[in-house]
Amino acid sequence: MENCIFCKIANKELPSEIIYEDGNFISFKDISPKAPTHFLIIPKKHIESVNHLQPGDREMVGQLLLIAKKISEEKKLTGYRLVINVGRKGGQLIDHLHLHLLSGETITLP
Ligand code: AMP
Ligand code: ZN
Repeated sequence: MENCIFCKIANKELPSEIIYEDGNFISFKDISPKAPTHFLIIPKKHIESVNHLQPGDREMVGQLLLIAKKISEEKKLTGYRLVINVGRKGGQLIDHLHLHLLSGETITLP
């Protein structure tokens, strides 16, 4: 999607500190971390938000959680929080579905 900053990150048109990548997903460090560990995990496909999910996205949504688990194992996180903001009033600023993975002692809600 044009002018979507997370699409640009997925396409490597914008730099990011990549944590994980496969054919359909990419995870990178949040530029303004709200916890000592703060990663974002996104599908490469542009989906605006949870409100825009279709039944056909079921597999992708499950995969998103499994990637969070995989990253937490790789980074040896003992506990973490997963957050998805939905819509402006839900705190969503970037209209490309993303899962926040937060860990550490000073977690504040993103
Ligand atoms: P949300 O409020 O749920 O839409 O979260 C958007 C998140 O994206 C915020 O935590 C921002 O700090 C983060 N963010 C914005 N621009 C970038 C960027 N270029 N690279 C990494 N993270 C970003
Ligand atoms: Zn996008």
